Amino acid sequence: MRRLVAICLCLATVAVQAAASPDIFLGDSLRQLGLAPLAREKTDGFGLERHGAKGLPTFVAEANKDYLLVEGVKFYLDDPIGLLRGKLTVTRIDYDKVIVPLAWRLPTPRPAAQRILLDPGHGGKDPGKVHPTLNYTEKAATLDTAIRLKLLLEKQGCEVLLTRDRDVAIELDDRAPMASKAKVDLFVSLHYNGGAAGDHSSAGIETYCLTPTGQHSTNKAAGRADLTAEPGNRFDTFNLQLAFNVQRQLLTQTGAEDRGVRRSRFAVLRTLTCPGILIEGGFVSSRTEGALIANATYRQKIAQAIADGIADYGRQLRAK
Ligand SMILES: [Zn+2]
Repeated sequence: MRRLVAICLCLATVAVQAAASPDIFLGDSLRQLGLAPLAREKTDGFGLERHGAKGLPTFVAEANKDYLLVEGVKFYLDDPIGLLRGKLTVTRIDYDKVIVPLAWRLPTPRPAAQRILLDPGHGGKDPGKVHPTLNYTEKAATLDTAIRLKLLLEKQGCEVLLTRDRDVAIELDDRAPMASKAKVDLFVSLHYNGGAAGDHSSAGIETYCLTPTGQHSTNKAAGRADLTAEPGNRFDTFNLQLAFNVQRQLLTQTGAEDRGVRRSRFAVLRTLTCPGILIEGGFVSSRTEGALIANATYRQKIAQAIADGIADYGRQLRAK
């Protein structure tokens, strides 16, 4: 009987360990990275912490939220932020895969950001999302944005290639290999979003990077059990920095709702041999945002923000 109890206890311990990586105190961990607690603001409630330091991003965290705000940009976490003895906690995996890459200096050797492959989503027989009344397609909007972005990046001195420069179909699995074939430094896939049938109010911009090794994807439909390491995971830190810089510029320049930096094992990101991101530049299906995307001035704004985000990322690569 005693032996049976011992076995049961042992199994219970294993189950607890498998359920979640151990939590660590957010403030103590950030202090190791050179950040210090910042003054509270009047509106801050219980369970909200601010951390920052000169030359480092500001982190705002709140108990029970499944994201952190980094310089005001939403970063989704694997697990909600916890509260223990009045202090916030995060899981070890979120600390290693989200916080450290954003707060610590970039590892060396660092890739360049000079030769860039832009990937306008969809094309040919695949229109992507279709606007219900304004009569435009996602495939047309992404191609137009890519051509605008190409010009802006070339003005910044970059060399720019496109996965497609006209209305043709390209298989999802064929897009990432084009990056390695062309030996580019950076891959940027451009998309616009769509809500479920009848949803005309969901809006906002989100930027995806490949789910870092050991983390779960934020699009739950992809399955929380998929923890496979992919070739693109060699660039986890750079993917995250690129996503951060681009998402921050997109939010600042458009004023769109922040749907955050998200993670997915998308076919276009999995096998990349360089850093890459996928941008969902707003909802075609939204009454208001869908009308904005139909407008060339707005698409120019989106292109400018992405170009500026890539320039910011390039400056970080060159920083000491
Ligand atoms: Zn799309």
